[in-house]
Amino acid sequence: MSSSSQNASPRSRRKTPLRARQIEGREWWLWGFAVTVTVALTAGIVFLTFFADRAEFTGPYATVLREWVRGLAAFVLLFDLYTMYQHLQLQRVRRQLAERDELFQLITENAADMIAVVDGTGARLYNSPAYQKVLGYSSEDLAAGSSDDQIHPSDRERVDQAAHKARTTGRGQRLEYRMRHKDGSWRILESTASPIQSGHRRDEKLVIVNRDITERKRAEEMLAHSALHDGLTDLPNRALFADRLQHALMRARRHADNKFAVLFVDVDEFKIVNDSLGHRVGDELLVQIASRLTGGLRETDLVARSVMVASQSPEEGLARLGGDEFAVLLEDVLNPIGAIRVAQRIQEKLSLPFDVGGQQIVITASIGVAYSSNSYAGAEDLLRDAELAMYRAKRTGKARCEVFDPAMHSTAVHRLKLETDLRKGIERGELIVYYQPIVSLQSGKITGFEALSRWQRPEGMVSPADFIPVADETGLILTINRALMLEACQQLRSWQSQFGCDPPLTMSMNVSPKQFIQPELAKEIGAIVQQTGVTPNTVNLEIMETIAMGDADRALSVISDLKALGVLLSIDDFGTGYSSLSRLPRFPVDALKIDRVFISNMNTDHDSHEIVRLIVMLAHSLRLKVVAEGTETEDQITELKRLGCEMAQGYLYSPPVDPKTACGLLHRSYEEVLLS
Ligand code: C2E
Ligand code: MG
Ligand code: MG
Repeated sequence: MSSSSQNASPRSRRKTPLRARQIEGREWWLWGFAVTVTVALTAGIVFLTFFADRAEFTGPYATVLREWVRGLAAFVLLFDLYTMYQHLQLQRVRRQLAERDELFQLITENAADMIAVVDGTGARLYNSPAYQKVLGYSSEDLAAGSSDDQIHPSDRERVDQAAHKARTTGRGQRLEYRMRHKDGSWRILESTASPIQSGHRRDEKLVIVNRDITERKRAEEMLAHSALHDGLTDLPNRALFADRLQHALMRARRHADNKFAVLFVDVDEFKIVNDSLGHRVGDELLVQIASRLTGGLRETDLVARSVMVASQSPEEGLARLGGDEFAVLLEDVLNPIGAIRVAQRIQEKLSLPFDVGGQQIVITASIGVAYSSNSYAGAEDLLRDAELAMYRAKRTGKARCEVFDPAMHSTAVHRLKLETDLRKGIERGELIVYYQPIVSLQSGKITGFEALSRWQRPEGMVSPADFIPVADETGLILTINRALMLEACQQLRSWQSQFGCDPPLTMSMNVSPKQFIQPELAKEIGAIVQQTGVTPNTVNLEIMETIAMGDADRALSVISDLKALGVLLSIDDFGTGYSSLSRLPRFPVDALKIDRVFISNMNTDHDSHEIVRLIVMLAHSLRLKVVAEGTETEDQITELKRLGCEMAQGYLYSPPVDPKTACGLLHRSYEEVLLS
């Protein structure tokens, strides 16, 4: 029922009784007057009947009296007619009133809204049957007590105030309050109380119209909840977490002692779980991680009470920011060490195997910590820094915890700028390909080249070491490498036909981590090989040891797919990845490239020399060729030759050069033997 209709109905109801009362009053007068006149007339007629034939009652007075009586009789007749008319009017009004009453009864009895009339003391005078339907109370149940009885104790004062206001101002206001259902549950009602007006006097009675809005409220609450919570884990989402963080920041600003920390937790290699076991398993794992985090924080709260505010429930300080990212707000942490301890405990908790549908899954998590300080303007800044620290933890080997420091911020700003510039650079065609020769140690001739990216910026050449990680992280590497592979293969084809050496020249190209996880990688490279018409076994794909040995089964399947193209495969930077050597025989690769750290130290450091010797031995036992990277001195070459290493690449022969210079090197190589 809208408030306007609520206001209109009492007014129209008040109008009718007033009119009825006016007519009723008039009727009293009329009947009183009629009785008086009738008595007077009767007296006159009696007088005329009994005394008029007397002789002394003749003459002008008698005539006048008769005239008067006749006049009076006519008047009474008229008056009676008027009275009958008024009577009929009154009957009509009464009929209307009865009809209206019936209609009102019909409406109140059938309305879904609960309608009640209460007196000044709060006693219920009338309750519509809807009370029974909605709240389970019969009229007798309700009439037995006061209207306050079923109202929620904490809402009573508000309800009483609203009733008082309605009585004093004559206008009711909308109010929401809770009322107990007969079964003990609480229902939320929306109600308006209007005073009953009797004549010009305002009555103490109130008509209260109540509507059950429990379901609507529940739906509203659910909507509000889902706007601020993650659908999968039911943890607070980023928006709610940011809001809490903002409050924590404000508290810390007011009280310098209120230090807090934000932990940014990211599951390592979660994508692999999703890709290999499916999204359903991934989702279930996230739910289990969420509950373990909640449980972990609860224990933390008990073990190190100083770490968290005792009144705060663990769920309140925890959020899922999206994907496999979670955030934890730790209040009252005295220093970053406290936060690191919690982070370590979280990592320990998460490192225990998860059982998802009977499958054991082991994960690790990288955690970034941002510690509160006055320099933070907003929650998002803190979250950003915790995330940056988490990225650092990932880059420095995963399953680690890093605390944010301002230097990280400037690095991040630099990286961001680099990313924007790199995008522009790619569009402008600033990325070019350089070639570094790979030389056969036996013949001293160039057997192939490694294609390496160069970013030629107006302000100078940018090293791949600076932009390749950014390109890989942002996925730009896919564009860069596609172009590089196409160009390098075309170049190879042209050099092969120009120089026609035997065995034919090879072209080595690096496969980046991002590329390695592309499902279409083999197909794409196959298309490039076909498009450029190079013989597949002259194309050499270099895969870094850390990626090749990362996830054994997955890597094996990718490497097998690549091998099926007929291309050559090398493991790049070998010796740096702590790879499991037992796995190496299963990999269909053709060569190992010894990392240049070992080559540069091999003549000064015994261990490095040993490593180089063992790698060569290992490679040979697996019938793999060995390429030594970063050869800079004659001594290194002599030693490498002695150890039986087949090929070398390094500044001693040539740094990476542009295609024209590389072509010049080829001419020289096939006219005279290079530095043999
Ligand atoms: P990498 O594949 O191990 O390439 C060899 C790196 O060693 C090259 O560095 C090369 O210039 C450098 N180098 C060669 N000989 C010597 C030497 O005698 N002394 C020293 N100090 N360094 C030498 P660059 O070109 O800076 O590339 C660095 C890394 O960036 C590469 O390591 C490779 O992993 C990556 N990279 C370069 N270009 C690309 C590319 O187009 N795609 C992908 N995915 N990665 C690339
Ligand atoms: Mg390489
Ligand atoms: Mg290398």
